[in-house]
Amino acid sequence: MSQMERTLVLIKPDAVRRALVGQIVARYEARGLQVVALELRQIDAAFAARHYAEHVGRDYYPGLEAYITSGPLVAMVLAGERAIDAVRTMNGATDAATALAGTIRGDLATSKRENLVHASDSPESAAREVALWFPQV
Ligand code: ADP
Ligand code: MG
Repeated sequence: MSQMERTLVLIKPDAVRRALVGQIVARYEARGLQVVALELRQIDAAFAARHYAEHVGRDYYPGLEAYITSGPLVAMVLAGERAIDAVRTMNGATDAATALAGTIRGDLATSKRENLVHASDSPESAAREVALWFPQV
């Protein structure tokens, strides 16, 4: 039986500033993933610390907090067969400079911090992140 999953995806503030929202959403749709929630939102430091709880206290966290709160982002829930792994593979490696061509980060970014997109990395984080961002979904 097919493994239908939901995953939380963020099109981060750098992508919104660079007007890449449409082409990034189009890639996910072209892959066959379904948009089941989508909202433009700007988050504050407290919400960032909840979303990135496992990163609070790391040396890069102050920069990550400043980045993720720096402007509006697009939060969405995507659904599809093995959606969690499928979206992570499409996004590419965290460090965009080493992300493979053909991935969103590998095609459109070079930064380790400003890497355009976020996606849940496991069924547990997907459940937690979807509930955090879209408690009504
Ligand atoms: P991913 O987004 O690929 O799941 P992580 O969960 O490891 O990556 O990190 C969360 C986010 O924090 C990254 O997408 C990136 O924006 C930022 N980040 C992680 N590690 C670093 C680092 N060493 N330097 C700068 N930013 C980082
Ligand atoms: Mg992560």
